[in-house]
Amino acid sequence: MTVLRTGSASDTGLVRSTNQDRSLETGTLFAVADGMGGHVGGEIASQIAIEALERAFGSQPSSRGLTEAVERANLAVWEHSQDHPDLRGMGTTLTAAALVNEDGNDVLVLANVGDSRSYQFQDGRLTQISLDHSVAEEMVRAGEISPAEATVHPQRHILARALGVTAEVAVDAWTVAPSSGDRYLLCSDGLTNELGNNQIAEVLSARADPQQAADVLVEAARRHGGSDNITVVVIDVLVGEETGAETGAETGQAAATGGSPEGRATVGSPGTPVPGADGLSTAVDATGIVPVVRREPGATHPQASPSRRQRRRSRATERRRERGRRLVTIRALVFLVVLAAILVGGYSAVRWFDVNSYYVGLDGNELMIYQGRIGGVLWYHPVVVERTGVTTGNVLSDPLTVGALRSGVQEPSYAAARAYVSGLVRTDTSTHTASASASASAGDARAAPVALRTGPGTTLLGATGTDRLAVSGGQ
Ligand code: MN
Repeated sequence: MTVLRTGSASDTGLVRSTNQDRSLETGTLFAVADGMGGHVGGEIASQIAIEALERAFGSQPSSRGLTEAVERANLAVWEHSQDHPDLRGMGTTLTAAALVNEDGNDVLVLANVGDSRSYQFQDGRLTQISLDHSVAEEMVRAGEISPAEATVHPQRHILARALGVTAEVAVDAWTVAPSSGDRYLLCSDGLTNELGNNQIAEVLSARADPQQAADVLVEAARRHGGSDNITVVVIDVLVGEETGAETGAETGQAAATGGSPEGRATVGSPGTPVPGADGLSTAVDATGIVPVVRREPGATHPQASPSRRQRRRSRATERRRERGRRLVTIRALVFLVVLAAILVGGYSAVRWFDVNSYYVGLDGNELMIYQGRIGGVLWYHPVVVERTGVTTGNVLSDPLTVGALRSGVQEPSYAAARAYVSGLVRTDTSTHTASASASASAGDARAAPVALRTGPGTTLLGATGTDRLAVSGGQ
């Protein structure tokens, strides 16, 4: 005879606009589903999964019934997405716990697909039972990255296995002997992304009432950012099944099966050597958590059963799909990086071009030195860096130079711009000298320096020296 007391809570969080998590809390069946898929897909997927799970488990409330109910839920979501093209690709996680009676003993069965989690809280210690089916976690199990790296890995939110995205799915399952005082926690990643194990354990220790514990956990996740939907189910074993010997026998038998390589493969992640199995077997010894190996009725060699082959095939498909997804992600990332580089490079080039350019122009009659390009470049407009105090009226007699200044005379540097202005001033002085002497001796050699001085302006205008001289001479 086992007595449970439970509580649950769910919250949209502070960032998302809708809550795509769903939870289930009946007398003997509990679940958390975290839907995914654009627009409304996520909440539809999690809703369908929960409803199908409850219906299927109701008609077969057993350990095996729970695993099959999860498979039914998978099929229900898959079929719905096939019938509704706008919902293609939707899916959900599903982590479930059920109290069932097996051979006269109450047993708690846990099943999981995806990265929502199940934990056991026993004597103040929090132990994760489920294995996350995320890309990052599977890389940890394959020994490719460390657990610490996984917590910040860019693909920690990408699921390697989910409910409803393929017609078949591999379900992980465990059985646990319900022991008085033990507490079980089902939750979506909205909780575990915000709170560490110690923070979760703290709340579970401090709050004896399961409903209060659920509420406080959700509130704590909100306070830590609430970047995702948060859903929690807390299950307390008030009175456990105290039939040690029989449960032990059951445990021993299942553990032996679970210990075989075939069993491990079912429990573990696709294609990995299940490094988690070490931790798992420790957990089995310490807490009686036993991986459930699905037995086909009448199949003497479970490894030869068509279902297992099918499962392996669907796992292979899953891996291919995953690789495809990873490839797409990397390609998208490379594209974004290249795009960013082009934008930053273009911006820098324009900025550099602008900042390293100077020209001499006129403000009214005064010669100004501007930083920038004549007329500006894109959104950069020239900036006055020096009012020279030199005016056209009193120092310049050459109308072509004035014309050039009016449109602006580009110089390669600030120093060059200043040199150009002082050159004009000196030219002007010599022009005065020239005209002074010219009045005395008309059309002499002293006009030559004038032509040379105003040379640059002429070049910029595109006029020929003879034109300029002709104008000059005409004065
Ligand atoms: Mn989530």
